[in-house]
Amino acid sequence: MSKLAIHKKDTVVVLSGRDKGKQGEVLKVHAATEKRPATALVSKINFVTSHNKPTQTDPGGIQKKEAPLPLSKLMLVCPKCKKGIRPKFDRLGSGEKTRVCRKCSEVIL
Ligand SMILES: [Zn+2]
Repeated sequence: MSKLAIHKKDTVVVLSGRDKGKQGEVLKVHAATEKRPATALVSKINFVTSHNKPTQTDPGGIQKKEAPLPLSKLMLVCPKCKKGIRPKFDRLGSGEKTRVCRKCSEVIL
């Protein structure tokens, strides 16, 4: 498991910007590189519209798709309290790393 607090299939809440307060499922997490911080693609969040010119195989037109958001703008949502939380990291007896909700002690794998 990575050190990032947010993983694929997590539910997250958006902390700022146009979609502030909205929740969605993480579709993909892009790890940080030297040039940019880690980002995540979140279902139905941060839609951007692209206008495509028609080609022989594509009728073109307006297409909406999600654009990645920096992880700093997202917060993990605890499946039990349904609120944005900053999890603490813990280890199971098996040695597997987990995230634990500080509010309700729910273990989030
Ligand atoms: Zn909780």
